[in-house]
Amino acid sequence: MNFLKKAHWQILIALIASLIVGISLREFAMDDSGKLSGAAASFSTLCTFLGQLFLNALKMIIVPLVVSSIICGIGGVGKIDGFARLGIKTIAFYALTSSVAILIGLTAVNVMQPGLVDGKPNENVRSAIENRAAEMRDSGELDKSLAKIDTAKEGGFGPIADIFKRMLPPNIVSAAAQGQMLGLIVFSILFAVAMTKLDGSASHTMLNFIQGLNDVMITMTHWVMLAAPIGVFGLVTPTIADAGFDLFVSLARYITTVAAALGTHFFIAMPLILLFVGRVNPLRHFRAMRDALITAFSTASSSATLPVTLDCVQQEAGVSKRVSSFTLPLGATVNMDGTALYECVAVMFVAQVLGYDFSFATQLSIVLLALMTSIGVAGVPSASLVAIVVIMQSVKIEGAEAAIAVLFSVDRLLDMSRTAVNVFGDSCAAVVIAKSEGEAVLTD
Ligand code: ASP
Repeated sequence: MNFLKKAHWQILIALIASLIVGISLREFAMDDSGKLSGAAASFSTLCTFLGQLFLNALKMIIVPLVVSSIICGIGGVGKIDGFARLGIKTIAFYALTSSVAILIGLTAVNVMQPGLVDGKPNENVRSAIENRAAEMRDSGELDKSLAKIDTAKEGGFGPIADIFKRMLPPNIVSAAAQGQMLGLIVFSILFAVAMTKLDGSASHTMLNFIQGLNDVMITMTHWVMLAAPIGVFGLVTPTIADAGFDLFVSLARYITTVAAALGTHFFIAMPLILLFVGRVNPLRHFRAMRDALITAFSTASSSATLPVTLDCVQQEAGVSKRVSSFTLPLGATVNMDGTALYECVAVMFVAQVLGYDFSFATQLSIVLLALMTSIGVAGVPSASLVAIVVIMQSVKIEGAEAAIAVLFSVDRLLDMSRTAVNVFGDSCAAVVIAKSEGEAVLTD
């Protein structure tokens, strides 16, 4: 039973327990209106509360951890040399892997054709979607879904030009308060460079202080992760208990297509890139990233997972702060392989069901739009649904909101999976780039 002392086993067991308890609650504690009743409802509320505490604790660490980590990463080396090279490599890697992900999604949706039967729009799915949209409209649920999409929009989705504006926030304190990662990254880099220009002792004092701050934040991350089994249980149990499974059957082929495409990227494409581009042992990398992957899956938020991702990449994979503190916060903000792939599959699926036959040129524009919008999607649950509406509107699919409201009802499990893929993509960038910078990481 020694293995139970290991954090990842505890978290995994909590995850499995939450699936069992969540399904049991659905099966045995629902009243006629499909809501949890009595003690089960109170238990679910308690779980949500504990899950929220865990999420808050993770988010609480992000700003001081990221800022101190970036400043130590650059200040510790004492020079900015090679930083432009690091930036170019990171952006090139992110663009390459997101494109690979989207092409896998596009291939899967064209080969598996989840929205078609014998080459024709799947009437069952189509009417399921139309009925569901009508029901949702009558019950006001559609408005709620759209409101959620609007909230996600406010949560950070914006056009490309906004990304540049976010890099130089007018107020760094409010950028920090909003968890505005790009602004914090640029500010921290400038701060670190300015710090290296101070005269000897002042620079040394600042660096010592910030290194101490960074060590404190790492210790606090470890404390929060001690509570991860409870947090994961708290987050996943109500999610499973409340998930709208009624549409799962009619959307089964769609869900399978998304799962197959995400699985291909996660288990085949990225390991091959790790092996051949990075010369990194993929199995060792999976092992190093266990905690971060389970946390990403449970929280469905790559931003909230960032402290754990940083910890795994630095402590388990052995990547330097210089590389990891730059690539990972940037990745959590702009690099979303799973999201980009999902956007492409979702748009093509809705097009198939609604009878649109897209030409190669339109499909190519969907690929480009998925690549661009995935950069602007915030690392929070269901954020990509907004981007999907934007893409559908750009390629002139009518009724995009109603379709997205339907996809929303089966989104959570897919969101959990694509978030794990997003976080994995960022971590792969960190090790591959570290390797290319001459660091000895995960070689055997
Ligand atoms: N939940 C995803 C993330 O945090 C974003 C999305 O695809 O909705 O990475």
